[in-house]
Amino acid sequence: MRLKLFTCVGGHIVLPDRRLVLVSREDGGNLCVDPPRAVWERSELTPAELTSWSFLVAATGRAMLDVLPQLDGGCINYWEAGNWALNDDAEPKGTKKAAREHRIVHMHLLGRSRAAASPSWKWGEAPVFPRFGERHAWAATHERLSPEECRRIVARTEALSREHYGMSAGDILPWLACRSCGYPTPASGDGPREVCEECRRGA
Ligand SMILES: [Zn+2]
Repeated sequence: MRLKLFTCVGGHIVLPDRRLVLVSREDGGNLCVDPPRAVWERSELTPAELTSWSFLVAATGRAMLDVLPQLDGGCINYWEAGNWALNDDAEPKGTKKAAREHRIVHMHLLGRSRAAASPSWKWGEAPVFPRFGERHAWAATHERLSPEECRRIVARTEALSREHYGMSAGDILPWLACRSCGYPTPASGDGPREVCEECRRGA
């Protein structure tokens, strides 16, 4: 499952499903930033939503650059595509899908390291993505960013959101480290959460 790490007025920082990490942590790492409301196209967001989401995307990317040593001298690729959900073989299988019904906007932040070992992420080259049907085999050896890396990214994103992008405490949900896995876990509507959604489901 995708795991929500941080929530603010600009949306959510999300850790990809462990079976579909696009860049392995040592090669630069991969997080997503979802807008505050699910839409099929970014122009469906209100101006205020789009502005806040853009702030969160920039703060998260900068936080990755600031706290991940593997990104020393590296950069972030911001990838918003959403093609695989539209594949004929994606659920519901065997249908030619319209984007308006099946696409969900989510910005991938792809850390680009000068030392990346994967041939798909060679420094100075555009990324090489697999065909839809080969995506899980292609990503099988990719590792998620660690709980500690994610805690550092979330703490830095929170600081940048307040200090550089003008968010107030009320714009940001408090978060804790999951007491089981250690990944950052935002509060829900009924208060702080000590265990993340993934550990609660036993995923
Ligand atoms: Zn957990």
